[in-house]
Amino acid sequence: MNHNRQYTLEAARFMREHDRFLVLSHVNPDGDATGSALGVVLILEQLGKDYVVVNEGETPSKFHFLPRFDRLRNLSKQPLDEKFGAVIAVDCADESRMGDVRSLFGSEALLLNIDHHPTNDGFGTVNLIRTDAAATAEILFEVAEELGVAFNEELALCIYTGLLTDTGGFRYSNTSPRVMEIASRLLSYGVKPGEVAERCLEEITFAHVKILRRALQNLQLSHQNLVATITVSIADFAETGAEREDAGGLVNYCRNIEGVEVGVSFVESEPGVVKVSMRARDRVDVSVIAKQLGGGGHAKAAGCTIRGSLPEVKQKVSLVLEEAVGVKTDE
Ligand code: 5GP
Ligand code: MN
Repeated sequence: MNHNRQYTLEAARFMREHDRFLVLSHVNPDGDATGSALGVVLILEQLGKDYVVVNEGETPSKFHFLPRFDRLRNLSKQPLDEKFGAVIAVDCADESRMGDVRSLFGSEALLLNIDHHPTNDGFGTVNLIRTDAAATAEILFEVAEELGVAFNEELALCIYTGLLTDTGGFRYSNTSPRVMEIASRLLSYGVKPGEVAERCLEEITFAHVKILRRALQNLQLSHQNLVATITVSIADFAETGAEREDAGGLVNYCRNIEGVEVGVSFVESEPGVVKVSMRARDRVDVSVIAKQLGGGGHAKAAGCTIRGSLPEVKQKVSLVLEEAVGVKTDE
């Protein structure tokens, strides 16, 4: 049997076999994480299963249009006094990406790990990891087909959102014929592409514009103009009234500059903690760099979180970049 098919079958069996599930995605969830988690929830509902869907923190409010968004529990604000025996983790490249939600696992918990990151280390009991998939949502589509659940507009919307956001609006190089095929099927179930794109990709908050204005002021080129970096400090958040989720997407301005091979954003999420996002053009595999720094991701989009002050973290990343792009920081 085809390798992928075998794991898809195992994932389907996992969902059929258990009755109550803990469903989770990764910390700082994006469109694929949220769409896939809520897609799992809709599939479980169709199978007549019970579930709790949890994230360590807040899910960006821009995804509120997704079905069952109000069922997403923010563990930091709504603690839960239950241990789960069956867990489904989506879009989590490694165990640490599940964050504090791991405290809800029973000692014998069985875990279904559905993901598409090449850096995934197979931390589940059942691992459905397909690095050829553009999004975790693409894999979920196959699982739903295997289970024979009905593709209504709600489920289609969740899966479409994952595909749309992880392909950057069907623009990145992971936009395969299969992605377009699945997207076309999802549209036939009633998804309105203009509305989803408006909510996920077009609409921005004014706070985002305020952060962007500051970030562009400090955008810097280094490594013979092969690297572009942008920085957001705690002070930027405090002075603009922006939230963490308002700082998304800044790294693309760096990578999009002509001639730049690697774009990097440094976002100080709390004092002494810096979230690093990296985007590559052609020559560099940023998942390797992120992994060296304790994170992970894809060849063209990866990230990590590093402890230290902004200057310390920037220096650390800069040195790793020297090796990756083959030139010194300030040349
Ligand atoms: P972003 O920079 O948008 O947060 O993430 C880009 C990609 O890298 C995503 O696929 C994301 O899942 C992955 N990624 C970001 N941060 C981390 C991290 O700390 N660890 C791992 N393993 N992957 C990460
Ligand atoms: Mn993803």
